[in-house]
Amino acid sequence: MCSSPAHAICCSEHARLEEEYIAARDRMRNLLRFRQLTRLEQRRLADEVAMAIARLKEHTAAHGCERR
Ligand SMILES: [Zn+2]
Repeated sequence: MCSSPAHAICCSEHARLEEEYIAARDRMRNLLRFRQLTRLEQRRLADEVAMAIARLKEHTAAHGCERR
């Protein structure tokens, strides 16, 4: 239903969710690089990233929008 050209995201919700995922992933990477995190903190960051991915996948599946 939503045919986007390569490297473009036609769905603003999809773009927003993808930004959320990238932000969560970058935050985790930065914190892991510069700080000693407790297991709990690591777990929480990983959960945040996993949830962002899940939301993105769920949206893509429900909405039929996809990159490429
Ligand atoms: Zn969408």
